[in-house]
Amino acid sequence: MANENCLNGIQCPSCKSDGPFTIETSCIGVWVDDGIGGEDCSGFEYDGGSNITCMECDATGIVDQFRRKEKDGEEKEESL
Ligand SMILES: [Zn+2]
Repeated sequence: MANENCLNGIQCPSCKSDGPFTIETSCIGVWVDDGIGGEDCSGFEYDGGSNITCMECDATGIVDQFRRKEKDGEEKEESL
């Protein structure tokens, strides 16, 4: 099953798993002098350089390395 939401296009290059993964995220919060101000921490974000670990096979890398190459029907499958 391909990921289409938060993990859109992410697949382990090692074991081809669609997840789960652990991804190092940055959370956007409102900080005041006392600490974090907002009740919610709404902006979990990761980018192509975030560290990612496949929980299936323990492969590690960055998100860009785990992105499936999406090609419109031009995917080369070695069928030999
Ligand atoms: Zn894996």
